[in-house]
Amino acid sequence: MLQKIIIGILAAAVISVCSIWGYTVWQRTQAPPPVAVAASPKPAEAAKADTAIAPVAAPLPFEQADGTHFTYNYLPPRDPDLLAMYDMARKIDVLRQLPEIDQLDGWLMLPRPINYVAAQCDTVNIFYARDKGDIVLCYEMLELLVRQGLTIAQANGGSARDQLDYLLANLRFLLLHETGHALVDLLDLPATGREEDAVDQLATTLMLSFVSTDESRGDIARKLQLASNFFLITDDGQHDMARYADEHSVGAQRFFNLQCMVYGSDPDKYPSIVASGRLPAARAQRCAEESRRITRNWMRLIGPHIAPRHRLSAQEEQARIEEIERKQAQNRNAADAR
Ligand SMILES: [Zn+2]
Repeated sequence: MLQKIIIGILAAAVISVCSIWGYTVWQRTQAPPPVAVAASPKPAEAAKADTAIAPVAAPLPFEQADGTHFTYNYLPPRDPDLLAMYDMARKIDVLRQLPEIDQLDGWLMLPRPINYVAAQCDTVNIFYARDKGDIVLCYEMLELLVRQGLTIAQANGGSARDQLDYLLANLRFLLLHETGHALVDLLDLPATGREEDAVDQLATTLMLSFVSTDESRGDIARKLQLASNFFLITDDGQHDMARYADEHSVGAQRFFNLQCMVYGSDPDKYPSIVASGRLPAARAQRCAEESRRITRNWMRLIGPHIAPRHRLSAQEEQARIEEIERKQAQNRNAADAR
């Protein structure tokens, strides 16, 4: 019974996740930026300053051009109850702890930067604000994920480390989902289906595709499982017509779509997803093809926007992956030896 009540509260709380109305609330509550008042230089001084400006270094040759870099900001909350979230976010530097966003930073040519902002919103939300190019992580959302992580860790006899893993895995997926909205907007990427489903697919594709040296593919699959749990525990199955009419699929559908992508990325490696009942066998049959098609299509959409200096030939890409896999194996061996 208690568990049902908790799930009900969580479901109600996340109703506005990734909804733009959260932004209008947030915008209203943000103080206007302070205007710097500087004394105008006298004409003679201005002329001297002009001549003193040294020319900036010559632009890089096209093939060395770097991509667009992102910005990261933590805005202090007005509500003292959210100070703990503000302090924690800054201490962990949570916006820079997300490996795929770190890799995307400077990798793509965008018409303007994406700004990752942590702020008080007066609602539980995380969203992309088209007009400014901001991706806003609300402290209220952070608080919800911390509470969920604690509830799950306590129920399973987990540790503080498990709670942090849950928090970071969910932030990683949700911020990548919002990054997907930003890329669709900034790069005018075509999507003929529901954008909400498409950017869930992009978030999963990025996590499965960007291999790093300090995480194995199994680690990534485990983190995607943690992120998919969020959709399940925030879906109590009690849907009215308004919920079906929503731009998002219902939580359980998002959960199964994610399972299908992970399982389909390597069915031989993840048979337990089907064996444990997290993915029905009937759906699993087509997941390898579904996962391959989605990954390929997203890479085709993004590929042309990779900055020249980061473009690799097929051989260079293969060599890079082999080098990463060699380092991953070294790390595993070192961990086994300890
Ligand atoms: Zn969305």
